[in-house]
Formats: sequence, C-alpha cells, structure tokens
Amino acid sequence: MICVVSVVLVSSQMECSVCFEQFDSVVRRPKMLACGHSFCLPCLQRLTPKRCPLDNKPFQTPPTEMVDNFSLLHASNNVWCRQCKKDATLACVDEHPVCSRKRARDEEAVPLLESLQRAGAALGKFASSQTPEWAHDFGE
Ligand SMILES: [Zn+2]
Ligand SMILES: [Zn+2]
Ligand SMILES: [Zn+2]
Repeated sequence: MICVVSVVLVSSQMECSVCFEQFDSVVRRPKMLACGHSFCLPCLQRLTPKRCPLDNKPFQTPPTEMVDNFSLLHASNNVWCRQCKKDATLACVDEHPVCSRKRARDEEAVPLLESLQRAGAALGKFASSQTPEWAHDFGE
C-alpha cells in the first residue's frame, strides 16, 4: 500500500486520509486513534482488520467510542441545516437539506445585499411620491 501512504503525505490535515473528504461535526467526525492519527468515523467503521491505515497499529476501541479530534473538527467546516437554520444534527442529515457552513454563509450574503438594495429603492420612491394618505391628518 505504498501508493496510499504517499498520497496521505500531501493531503490536508483537515480531510480524512482514507476517503479524502473533509471532516465535519456530523457524519465525518474525526476520530483519533491511540497512535495519534485521525480518520473519519465511517472509514474507521469500515476498516478490517482494525488497524490504523497509516502505521498499521491495531486498535480495539469501537470507532463510535473514540474521542473526537476537536482540533480537526474546529478547523473544518461544520455542517449547516438549511431547514433548521442552525448547525445540523444527525437527524438533520437524514431528514433535512444540509450543506457546509461556509456555503450557507456565501449563499446568504447575496439575498441580504439584494434586499438592502430593494429597501433603498422603496425608500427613494416613497420620499419622492406625493403626500401619503396618513399625512393628511397632520397636514392642514
Ligand atoms: Zn474517511
Ligand atoms: Zn496511526
Ligand atoms: Zn435540521
């Protein structure tokens, strides 16, 4: 498996060295092995025999009971639930449309700008229009 190791060396710290997907806080939780290497939970669960893919050190702990590698987790994008408008939970991943936090931020920036422009245009129209109806009570 020499080819796998050489690919691992150039890959980013924030992605799983087995599937090359970015870690996240819901599905691809980075789990740290006793040897110090971290892989995503789904990959660890698929490993047979239970050995670290990098150094072949065997491990006994079930992957679901391993500690999350929080430094990797915080460095990577969290998963955002489009429906709940908050960080996605495991239930969200199953039932709601989810995307990365960064993508959600990028997408939200556009409508906000548009609505600001629209509000500005509405305000301009209002100011230049003739005396609004509610103003008659105060006018004469
Ligand atoms: Zn993986
Ligand atoms: Zn290892
Ligand atoms: Zn949700």
